[in-house]
Amino acid sequence: MPSQRPLPILLLVAALAAAAPALHAGPVAEQATASRQQPGIQHYAVGALQVAALSDGSVPQDLHALLLGTTPAQTDALLHQAFRRNPVEASINAYLVTIGERHVLIETGAGTLFGPGNGGKLVQRLAALGIAPEAITDVLITHIHADHSGGLSQDGKPVFPNAVVHVGQAEVDYFLAPDHQQGVKGYDAAYFQQGTASLGPYVARGQVRGFQGQTEILPGITAIPAPGHTPGHSFYRLQSQDESLTFIGDLLHVQSVQMPRPDITIVYDVDPAAARATRERFLSQFAQERTAIAGAHLAFPGIGHVRAQGKGFGFVPVDHRDRAGE
Ligand SMILES: [Zn+2]
Repeated sequence: MPSQRPLPILLLVAALAAAAPALHAGPVAEQATASRQQPGIQHYAVGALQVAALSDGSVPQDLHALLLGTTPAQTDALLHQAFRRNPVEASINAYLVTIGERHVLIETGAGTLFGPGNGGKLVQRLAALGIAPEAITDVLITHIHADHSGGLSQDGKPVFPNAVVHVGQAEVDYFLAPDHQQGVKGYDAAYFQQGTASLGPYVARGQVRGFQGQTEILPGITAIPAPGHTPGHSFYRLQSQDESLTFIGDLLHVQSVQMPRPDITIVYDVDPAAARATRERFLSQFAQERTAIAGAHLAFPGIGHVRAQGKGFGFVPVDHRDRAGE
């Protein structure tokens, strides 16, 4: 362990670090320095703030059954270009931002809604950071779907009892409406019932804060409506100094298909045409602005940039940082 190594080694490491070690600096430097990275947890700096990407788990997705506006052959061709095959593995990402006294959680993963082994790792990731569920002051939900809001509650009780839940008011109006609980126009009842089970305990305690339009909901965090996938689907843009990170929720589900072909939609969309238009608009904007994004289903940690590529877009992940103090 680093703390048990004799002083001369530490001095050697310091000397190596001071000399800006090359990639082949050797194994000593690796053993004697500790970064904060852990399995399922990746730290990323945004200006003066730290974001921790937290893996809630991953689930397989059968794209032949899920995607609309494509054929299995077209989908397979796009997957082939991305060195993947159907079914693809979808990450379920959540993020923690600490701002002063606040511990702000963005998305809550699936909780137990996807069954044993699929998702539900969020609370253990937080524990590995030394953060109890009671310490979470704010939860930001991009939309009320099981893999984003499912981790909010367990057995009818709030998992984060001291948190205010921020969500687009249109989400609450749509998913928690009593007359929607048996499904709406072919959109399955489970979406509504799971949403009500997840949000309901917070509604009962007066801890849900719905917002409308583009709103600064916390210092440095602005909610941006991005409807289509769901009626109140919203991004959260974190700004610090001259850097930003925009949490895009489900702007897209399948990077290797919907970046090159943003017109392809998925059966989870409430309004596929609006979801497509929103995806095309914002991917174009992100590419022009060169702004960093964090996606709930982009491969963990899901942070990177969008660039124009052919007739569509490509995604470039940020570098992995894993050294002392990072
Ligand atoms: Zn969704």
